[in-house]
Order: sequence, then C-alpha cells, then structure tokens
Amino acid sequence: MMLNSMRTQDVLPTNLQDPLEILRWAGRGFPQGLVLASALGPQSIVALDLAVKAGLDLDVVLLDTGLLFDETLELATRLETRLGVSIQRLKPALTLDEQAEALGEDLWETDPAQCCEIRKVKPLANRLADASAWITGLRRTGSLVRAEVESVEWDAVHGLVKINPLAWWPRARVFEHLHSHNLPYNPLLDDGYASVGCRPCTSRVRPGEDERAGRWRGRGKTECGIHHRLAAAQPQEEAAQ
Ligand code: SF4
Repeated sequence: MMLNSMRTQDVLPTNLQDPLEILRWAGRGFPQGLVLASALGPQSIVALDLAVKAGLDLDVVLLDTGLLFDETLELATRLETRLGVSIQRLKPALTLDEQAEALGEDLWETDPAQCCEIRKVKPLANRLADASAWITGLRRTGSLVRAEVESVEWDAVHGLVKINPLAWWPRARVFEHLHSHNLPYNPLLDDGYASVGCRPCTSRVRPGEDERAGRWRGRGKTECGIHHRLAAAQPQEEAAQ
C-alpha cells in the first residue's frame, strides 16, 4: 500500500529501531519519490549506504549553500563513485552576491536564521514538495534537542513522513559502520570537527563538548531549521537570538 496519503502519526511504526528494517519499511511504503537530504554527515552516509543495500529507489540531495567546505564537495563526488548514486546539489534561489546585495554582507553573522532560511530551508521545502517521504540522518544522541527523534515520524511542516533510520544509533556505531564498510566520510571529522556544515558557521569542538557545539558557536543556534520541530525545541533565549 502506498502511504503518501498518510496524514497522522497513528499508523507510523515508531517501534522500529533497526536501520535496515526501517528502510525496508520505507521502501515498501514509498516505492517512488523518496528523498534523502543531508550535508553528508557520517550518519547520512550510513543511511545512504543502507538505503542502497535495501534497494530503495530514492533521490539523494546535498544542500549546497555555496558555503560548504571543499572537503564536503569532494566527499559528494567520492560517494557517487563508491555507492553508484547521483547526488543532486540543491542551490538556493539567491547567489551569495545577490544575498549580500539584498540583505547585507555576511548574513550568517547578522541573521543566521534568515541565512539558513534562504540557503537551506526554502530550497529543501521546494525540493520536498513533490517527494513522497524523506530520509534523514538524525540520531537521538546527536544533541539534547534531538533526543526524542522517532525512527519514523510525521513532518507536519513539509506534509510528509520523515524517516530517521539511524535514530537509535550512537555516534560510535555510526563510525564502526563507516570503517568496517570502508566508506568515505568528511576528513574534517578527523581534524577536530564533530559536525560539519557551512564554513562560516562550523568550528572545532573541545573534548567533552556536545557533537554539535561547533555549529553556530556563540550565536545561540544549534539547528538550521530544516528539522522544524527541533528548531522550535531550542532554548527560548537562544532561539530568539
Ligand atoms: S549554516 Fe551559516 S552560512 Fe550556512 S546557511 Fe546557515 S547561517 Fe548561512
């Protein structure tokens, strides 16, 4: 049965925890129109590898903000070769020059929420408009605000089922999978970065810090907004900045 008419969480199998089982469920429910969207973080690479192994027919999307590290762009090419997939580079409507002209230089400094809205949130929303469901690399232990992520959940903002096959995996297990399957990952992760996004908003983390502590450091922001429930879950004093 196609599930793209699903409109409530009542029938979603939130009890599933095994990534392959979750992805096979996704393949049965959404034989066409699945989209895996990411910035090619380690968990998204594992999700993609398992989705390929599960035989899913899906489109892979990289949110190419124009501000990604060269290492991330090179990783996309390496993954295409290694996994035999094509990765769509999803661009914002505004170039960086157009954004600077309309809203000022370095918008990521003055209004990172608006910058993310233009360069990540809107392009993804447009891309998901004709998707049947989408797959992410969200994990419960990724950060405090991700702690309640379900394996399969209803994304009311995009009007889609959202599938998080790695929801129950700890970070160490993700890297075990990458290493044991000889999968490429971002070399910056071996250079002090725990999570890699755009160049101006990504810094190294110190021992003991949350794995997303290096994202938007000092700017009171830990999520870009594509996972809307998570953005709303940020501490109020931070989300308001
Ligand atoms: S992560 Fe930073 S540079 Fe990238 S879109 Fe968001 S605010 Fe802009």
